[in-house]
Amino acid sequence: MKLTILGATGSIGVSTLDVVARHPDRFEVVALTGHRQVDVLAAQCRLLRPTYAVMGSAADAQRLALLLKDAGLRTEVLHGAEALMQVASLPEVDAVMAAIVGAAGLPPTLAAARAGKRVLLANKEALVMAGAVFMAEARRAGALLLPIDSEHNAIFQSMPHNYAGDMARGGVRRILLTASGGPFRTTPLDVLSGVTPEQAVAHPNWSMGRKISVDSATMMNKGLEVIEAHWLFNAPADRIEVVIHPQSVIHSLVDYEDGSVLAQLGNPDMRTPIAHALAWPERIDSGVAPLDLFSVAQLNFERPDLARFPCLDLAYRALRTEGNAAAVLNAANEVAVEAFLDRRLPFLGIAELIAATLDVVPQAAVPDLAAVLEADRQGREAALKLLARRPAKSA
Ligand code: NAD
Ligand code: MG
Repeated sequence: MKLTILGATGSIGVSTLDVVARHPDRFEVVALTGHRQVDVLAAQCRLLRPTYAVMGSAADAQRLALLLKDAGLRTEVLHGAEALMQVASLPEVDAVMAAIVGAAGLPPTLAAARAGKRVLLANKEALVMAGAVFMAEARRAGALLLPIDSEHNAIFQSMPHNYAGDMARGGVRRILLTASGGPFRTTPLDVLSGVTPEQAVAHPNWSMGRKISVDSATMMNKGLEVIEAHWLFNAPADRIEVVIHPQSVIHSLVDYEDGSVLAQLGNPDMRTPIAHALAWPERIDSGVAPLDLFSVAQLNFERPDLARFPCLDLAYRALRTEGNAAAVLNAANEVAVEAFLDRRLPFLGIAELIAATLDVVPQAAVPDLAAVLEADRQGREAALKLLARRPAKSA
């Protein structure tokens, strides 16, 4: 199977290459992309000898090209957003790992879907922003969407015949989306106002990129995943329930009309869903250690506290509002998380900024990609304006 890996230098990208390297007879890497990390991408290219490598800027592409030439490689080095779409839709590529973080991942992920590829979908922001457009294009082109997000991969595995179609016909009553609760699940509420980016990105169970780690701390990650599940599994908001499960061993569950509940369990390591989606419908070794239930010993469950995690409520509201609301929510969240990581916004300001952005951006329909990108632009613009107006106070 020939692969393009979008976001190869990130957390999911590195885990993907780890799985791929275990099966050299099975996978061939055609294209790798990174944004700014020239040295990381150069090392990956030396190992995998792809036909194409893509960087964010011309200057970084030039640096990478020099490094690869010195190493005797013939990899063609490209740069920019167009090049990402190009390598996502190459005729010789069978599968595309969509692991760019944030809204930047939407155009190349959509390009892969439009080209009818097997799309290994890690970039949840693409579905949050453009769910209706994305699913329609994927269906039209006959693309195979395989979720990488651990919860959605678990749901996919627990769905009838692995089929993400009509929930009612499959006898599905509810989707139970598990959440670890992040690093602040039990932090006293008055302490939350002062937590730092370092504390927020220190996730108790998962090792991930910085943006998704902050999203896990606010539980916006779970909110984005509710919207992602809505589109992937054609599930109405009131059939998707979030369950806090601090051990992160059950990755999600499907509750059926007859009382059966199916779940997928495993150690919290993204190489499992990555290997599942790479090999589906077969199974391959992922390098993940077998689950030791005796050392896990206990599985606990709690109802999420919306006062502690207002971002979760905002995401449900955006999903129920429909139209541009989810794209605006996503844009405002990206602005807020970046500001928090830069210490320009306190932790509790993230939810406040998103709520205020949703209040000021007018509702609109999003019938096509242009409308989605406009909603994203408006959300960012409004969030940045509101951020600038906040009283100056150290974050
Ligand atoms: P990361 O920050 O570790 O990596 C992001 C990748 O995207 C890097 O390769 C980076 O170079 C690239 N990138 C960043 N900005 C870019 C831009 N403007 N243009 C082109 N490329 C750009 O992130 P991650 O944790 O690997 O997450 C990737 C995606 O997968 C996210 O959408 C995240 O929500 C999703 N996801 C991640 C995990 C996880 O365990 N890390 C789990 C589930 C879902
Ligand atoms: Mg997840």
